[in-house]
Formats: sequence, structure tokens, C-alpha cells
Amino acid sequence: MVVASPPPRINLCQRLTTTGRFPRPNFGAATSPPGVDVHYLDRGTITADRAYMIDSSTMATVADPDPEHALVECPVYNLLIDHPKGTVLWDTGSHPDAGDGYWPTPLFEAFHHEDADEHTLPAALADAGTAISDIDAVVASHLHLDHAGGLRHFAGTDTPIYVHERELGYAYRSAATDTGSIAYHSPDFDRALNWRVVAVDRGRRQLYPGLDLLHLPGHTPGLLGLYLEPEDGAAPAIVAGDEAYQRENYEDGVPMATSLLSSLADWRESRRRVRDLARRTTADVFCGHDTRDAARLAARF
Ligand SMILES: [Zn+2]
Repeated sequence: MVVASPPPRINLCQRLTTTGRFPRPNFGAATSPPGVDVHYLDRGTITADRAYMIDSSTMATVADPDPEHALVECPVYNLLIDHPKGTVLWDTGSHPDAGDGYWPTPLFEAFHHEDADEHTLPAALADAGTAISDIDAVVASHLHLDHAGGLRHFAGTDTPIYVHERELGYAYRSAATDTGSIAYHSPDFDRALNWRVVAVDRGRRQLYPGLDLLHLPGHTPGLLGLYLEPEDGAAPAIVAGDEAYQRENYEDGVPMATSLLSSLADWRESRRRVRDLARRTTADVFCGHDTRDAARLAARF
């Protein structure tokens, strides 16, 4: 990475007093252990048909031959995780020119991201008191264009970009052929990036102590979720990401539309594993594009 000295570690209590956003109140300044501090980064909102998120939610019947379609607002977020071992950026959001011709037109019409240019990655990081050059590692949950549009900021640096091996292969194949998914845009990821390939199959890999990556195939073959164990005894958090766009996907087992799945069988199995892990650890689970979960995340972090 192009940083001469390690980024300054931000003390939990300093962050508490400067931002006032940390919801857990019982740390005394003198006794607070060094810990993990997480910031929610607001990267704007995608507006799309609810039927993408909740499969078959607007099916016609004889009695109701023309059901009403609904547009859903889907938050796009990244997480900045200040860990004693390093500062991690979870996902990089959309390219600011998404609506200016950078995203293929059919995709932008279906997944309208009008405000991407108002929620850029550098601005979101600045709001959290940090900068691109302070990031020690990036985790790419997957390489769809609402998650990989900020990777360009790390091109030519030695900042490690963690990505699942099945994701990297699928992204390149999708971009180069008519197979796979149209939601990969090669200018996002076909760059001089310092990829660190995560090869665990449907398992768990520790990134730092208390910070694990979970392989959750289904939405894409290489989707990574996050398991975060705070040091203060609070419940762990599982960021399921796009394994579940909306709460209903996770809670009720209703999948996203087929066009948002690489494998329904994998999706179901990944959901079962997240639910098992959440039950065993009493973790809070956060979905990838759910307004309610984004609000809970922003409140918690
Ligand atoms: Zn997404």
C-alpha cells in the first residue's frame, strides 16, 4: 500500500466522544480495552421492483390479473471496521457515475441508483474521519457493481483485497461471456488490484481475531458474509450481505428472484448455515439491502 506509516489507531472512546454514534454506553475512558470499532457508511439508495427482492411477490391470479408492482428503496452500505490488527473496509459500493452511463443502461433502469454520486467512497470515509490511504484491507463481499465500484481507488496499491476464489472466476467469466450474471462490470474489478483469494468452501476463515469471513454461496458463487465478535460482551453480528437482500429472505426463507441467484440450492443451504450460526451464537443478523437492517446497523455502529 502507498502508506509510509501505519494508519493511526483510533481509540474506542475517542471515537465515541467525537462521533457520539456508538450506542453501548458503559465504557469508562480509563478502563476501555482496545477493541473493534465499526462505522456504517451510507452509500446511497437503489430503487428497484420488489419482485426482485421477494420472489413471486407480484404474481397475477385470475382474481387479480394485474397486481400492483411496488418499488422498494434498498440502502447501499459499506462498513469501516477499526480493529486493533488493522482497518478493514467491507465492500466499496457503486461507482459515482452509475447514473451517468457507467452502469449499462438496462441495469441502471432496473436498479436505479440516482444518488451514487452524492455518496462517494472518499466522502463516506471522510465522514467517518478516515481516508482511502488509511485502509489496511478491503473485503469484497462479491463483485456486483453495487459492491465493487470503489475498488478502483485501490488499483496500483498493495492494499490486500480479499475475495472468494469462486467470485473472482465467476466475475471474469460473466464479464467476458454471455454466461453468468450481467451484474458484473469489468471496469470495476479488472484492475491492478492486490487480490487475496479466500478459498474456504462453505466454511469460515478468520481475517483478524473476532472477525471472520463466511462463504455463503447462492446469490453469487463466492459471496462472503462477515461474523464480527465484539470484545465487550455484546451479541456478535453476522453481516449476511446479499445472501439476503431483505428481512423476508432471511426470516421467511423466501428467496430473491431467480435473476438474483446463481444457485437456489446453494442459497437455501447458506441461509440455513447463517441461521444455525446465529442461533448458536445469539448473533444479530443484518441483511444486504434492507432499510430496517441498515437502520439497525447504523444505530448499533
Ligand atoms: Zn447488492
